[in-house]
Amino acid sequence: MSVAVENFPTLVLNADFRPLSYFPLSLWSWQEAVKAVFLQRVNVVSEYDRAVRSPSRAMQLPSVISLKQYVPLSRRPAFTRFNVFLRDRFSCQYCGGAYQAEHLTFDHVVPRSRGGRTLWNNVVTACEPCNLRKGHRLPHRSGLYPLRVPRQPTNHELQHNGRAFPPNYLHESWRDFLYWDTELEPS
Ligand SMILES: [Zn+2]
Repeated sequence: MSVAVENFPTLVLNADFRPLSYFPLSLWSWQEAVKAVFLQRVNVVSEYDRAVRSPSRAMQLPSVISLKQYVPLSRRPAFTRFNVFLRDRFSCQYCGGAYQAEHLTFDHVVPRSRGGRTLWNNVVTACEPCNLRKGHRLPHRSGLYPLRVPRQPTNHELQHNGRAFPPNYLHESWRDFLYWDTELEPS
């Protein structure tokens, strides 16, 4: 098949028609998707108005596919910067302000220099000014307490929070920030 179709990503749904993953959104290249269709591992749910052709056949590029076999999702969300921000709805947990991702930092409630650990229950989203204001002080010294007590969210909660944003917004806005999606090292 030879045709110039560079960027027709396919949204991959689980067998229950929910995205295989939300963060990052499960997208395959059209090549991967077409291959899975030929291998009869997926059903085509929706197609692009664009076809690829070989000498013998043509095929519409799938825009949405669903797996034939259900893949169980892990119950515990990955501990990533992205998921910390998503848990906190991209808002500073000290002043409550909502910010663009690139203006957010994450803050150790109990600073690492005071023995605070990098875990769900000690890491919160903070805007740059609040993070600076707090510095390396304990909450009772700085007077800055998180608006909500941080804890590990469920996948359901993350998905719920994600729906507050326009479709693909998070994915698009984070394209250049793949670094944020790497797993944090618990300490
Ligand atoms: Zn703030």
